[in-house]
Amino acid sequence: MSDAINKIFGIDLGTTYSSIAYVDEYGKPVIIPNAENQRITPSVVFFDGSEIVVGDVAKESAKLYPNEVVSFIKRSMGEANFLYEYDGKTYRPEEISCYILRKVAQDAEQTIGEKVQDVVITCPAYFGINEREATRKAGEIAGFNVRQIINEPTAAAIAYGTVQETENRVVLVYDLGGGTFDITMIDIQESSIDVICTGGDHNLGGKDWDDRIVAFLVQEFQRQTQSEEDILEDPDTWQDLQLSSEKSKKILSQRDKTPISITHGGDRVKVELSRDKFLEITEDLLERTIALTHEMLKDAKNKGYEHFDEIIMVGGSTRMPQIPDRIRQEFGMEPRMFDPDEAVAKGAAIYGWKLSLNDGLIKRIAEKTNRSVDDEEDIIETTPKQIMEEVAKEMSEETGVTLSAVKRSTMKIRDVASKSFGVVARRPNNQEGVFNLILKNTVVPVETKRTFYTPEANQERVLIRIMENETNEKVVSVEHSIEIGTAVLDLPEGLPEDSPVEITFNLNREGRLQITAIETSENRQVVAKIETSSVIQGKELAEAIERAQHLVVH
Ligand code: ADP
Ligand code: MG
Repeated sequence: MSDAINKIFGIDLGTTYSSIAYVDEYGKPVIIPNAENQRITPSVVFFDGSEIVVGDVAKESAKLYPNEVVSFIKRSMGEANFLYEYDGKTYRPEEISCYILRKVAQDAEQTIGEKVQDVVITCPAYFGINEREATRKAGEIAGFNVRQIINEPTAAAIAYGTVQETENRVVLVYDLGGGTFDITMIDIQESSIDVICTGGDHNLGGKDWDDRIVAFLVQEFQRQTQSEEDILEDPDTWQDLQLSSEKSKKILSQRDKTPISITHGGDRVKVELSRDKFLEITEDLLERTIALTHEMLKDAKNKGYEHFDEIIMVGGSTRMPQIPDRIRQEFGMEPRMFDPDEAVAKGAAIYGWKLSLNDGLIKRIAEKTNRSVDDEEDIIETTPKQIMEEVAKEMSEETGVTLSAVKRSTMKIRDVASKSFGVVARRPNNQEGVFNLILKNTVVPVETKRTFYTPEANQERVLIRIMENETNEKVVSVEHSIEIGTAVLDLPEGLPEDSPVEITFNLNREGRLQITAIETSENRQVVAKIETSSVIQGKELAEAIERAQHLVVH
């Protein structure tokens, strides 16, 4: 492939493991191993004096330095109050995540001898506005040009759709990772991938299975030593049990039982954990994934999707044999395990590759037809087929990419809103409620308007509280929503009570929300930038970028 195509890398920024991929000159997605020659890197960060260590070494260091090691940072993405303190400095989740991104990118640069600049980063489908924005910021702090944030199940479906020959099908992607569970229905067609519905729980993942083993071990320790001590209060023991529980869990994916030893305060206790016992103490977790799947299927049914053709499993935790067993039993079909550790990064890379081919195609057409590349949608829609063909052919010859790949690069991905979005207003009974303008699982991009009325005469301004929630109802209580930002609309003087204010929500393809409010009597308009303290910005962001520039991650 010539340099005419700008490489865009795909990064799976996982809760427990991360990885990076690109598409090689044969059009195949390839995972780039890290410096330790592993295809996935633990998303664990160790603050070691002036050095930042990410990956296996960090994970192992947790035993010795439990307070200097940060794991599962993704669970805190978009949280306003999460601050990790080290050596008198505080770090936001975005900055800590940036270290993980830097580690996988830096190692990849070493291996392939090219700079990682443009990237597509994945996030769980149910990530809300703040979490998505935080993910994007993590990439920006790392110094990347973040081309797009795409959903993990969508990425997995892209990887799956490109290995599967053309046949149209509706698939369920059951993604059980280390910290998260995502269930998504996707309609794969030859030239498009549509996300129909999505659900899940961002606090349910392999770690919860580990925690059950930890709890079991604590009990066994107490029983065998006849003590009531909570050995988890000792951070060393806690770390030790975490690591040995995850190891035991993985062994139980292969074997019927596993020996585990617990050392604490000079006592050593041996325990045997059988697979049956493991299934028993984790059964409710598995059942929860099934219940969440049914919930999502109900939503899909309401949208006219009554059945699906297959279930694909991704995420490391689907290696536990009870997962496919239970799915088989529940849905009467054989789930397919699909590249569980790598599908997401590979799918993101394929998507990035399509973006860059598409960029090239648009650029060439724009040159030929004397238009601006900014009219991308327009160019795709209005360029005569013949010119498209011609340009695609030229590009294929120039770059060595097959003609069909160039043509398919305009493939459409349609996603849905992962949450409902609304504003706080008074209900007829005068109580506050959240009026949803965009409902969960609506196809994006989407724009909706709604008119509200000022409650008082001579009001100087309207404060618009922008809310996010998981429900599918038009009006929900404030307690069931989280506030993602506010906007202020200044009003002209002397407006009567009940003056109309029109609010427009626009959710783009990537799940970014823009809000416009118009006071209709004098037609004043504000484009509300969502102000939120949950995501790093301003001076703090600039400082983080500055710090990251000189950063070498080990
Ligand atoms: P994430 O995307 O959330 O980082 P992954 O999809 O990489 O997660 O999955 C990581 C999880 O998979 C971890 O909890 C890990 O313990 C679990 N896992 C990996 N291999 C196995 C296995 N053989 N058996 C059981 N669990 C496994
Ligand atoms: Mg994952």
